[in-house]
Amino acid sequence: MAPQAYLDHAATTPMRDEAVEAMLPYLREEFGNPSGTHAPARRARRAVDEARDQLAEVLGCEPGEIVFTGGGTESDNAAVFGVIRRHGGVALCSAIEHHAVLEPVLAVGGRTVGVDGRGVLDVDALAAALSPDVRLVSVMLANNEVGSIQPLAEVAELVRHHAPDAVIHTDAVQALCWLDVARMTAAADLVSVSAHKFGGPKGVGALVVRQGVELEPLLLGGGQERERRSGTHNVAGIVGLAVAAASAGAERKLVVDRVAELRDRLADGIVQSVPGAVETGVPVAAGGAVRAHKVVSNCHLCFEGIESESLLFLLDRAGVSASAASSCASGAMATSHVLEAMGVAPPLANGSLRLTLGPTSTAAEVDHAIDVVRASVERLRRFA
Ligand code: PLP
Repeated sequence: MAPQAYLDHAATTPMRDEAVEAMLPYLREEFGNPSGTHAPARRARRAVDEARDQLAEVLGCEPGEIVFTGGGTESDNAAVFGVIRRHGGVALCSAIEHHAVLEPVLAVGGRTVGVDGRGVLDVDALAAALSPDVRLVSVMLANNEVGSIQPLAEVAELVRHHAPDAVIHTDAVQALCWLDVARMTAAADLVSVSAHKFGGPKGVGALVVRQGVELEPLLLGGGQERERRSGTHNVAGIVGLAVAAASAGAERKLVVDRVAELRDRLADGIVQSVPGAVETGVPVAAGGAVRAHKVVSNCHLCFEGIESESLLFLLDRAGVSASAASSCASGAMATSHVLEAMGVAPPLANGSLRLTLGPTSTAAEVDHAIDVVRASVERLRRFA
């Protein structure tokens, strides 16, 4: 079989064995509904409570501040709509948010704040956009396309000063494997995470809602999650989420160094072997590429004169799984709003390639990807 390279960990990650193992009993014999009162229900309830404690530890919050959701998209929607429907006022977000934040912010008539060429929020522009009528500011912790890390502490300081009534939300969906989320989100009132980005199952996530922050719930019904999110708990999913979060948190320091080396080998390998390859948003200084503003898992490149779609097709045929902009349900290649906000010219942006590593990535995958990208770009240029 041809060598394979799964380099799309930002889209989703393989599940961790310990998360699968922990979930199995709740998919089989322990099927109780945690809202009930009998013994099976109480056992399911206990599993949810333990998962809540475990996740709270990783996220640096109180167990009671965790609201389990159906994933990152729901957490983001719950944050934006929840704040604006309860309090009114203006919503602001960075121009490079995931669509799960961007669309709700635009739907409530909100505005976006620009970023620099590295994909890092322009804090002066944020300061200028803030006013006392701003009630929500949403800035992600790490961007899903180019991996840029956002200056959340600085954002919080500005918001508390210029818009003291505003609630701060951060989408930390892409951060948990790579950053100290507990420390870096400490100043945020609302924090979104999603299990399938760190070795847990799809369709389950959480929103941290700090004590005292009031939200209008997105889902009404049985009043689960202390009236903050109705719906029968996804017990197995919640258990898998918490176990995966604990593992990802525990191994983070070890994994980060190894993956940083692999990412640098990948990015340097492609830039050196493919003429005209540009590493998106990465300045080049005397010592080489400067990637300190990015999560270590992200390698983003643009190739002038190449269509992303054709490149992805050839990569896939050679066993390299990658993506261009963030993956979207339609599979359609829309121009990336992130690259546009960073000022990447359209001819370059149309030839974008996102390669994202994970804790399971290997040097063999990286070397295979370098060879395949080089050969594929050469081939597309030959036939252009
Ligand atoms: N936010 C970010 C930054 C993401 O990368 C994603 C998924 O790609 C989401 C939100 C949506 O999460 P989910 O797939 O769990 O709905």
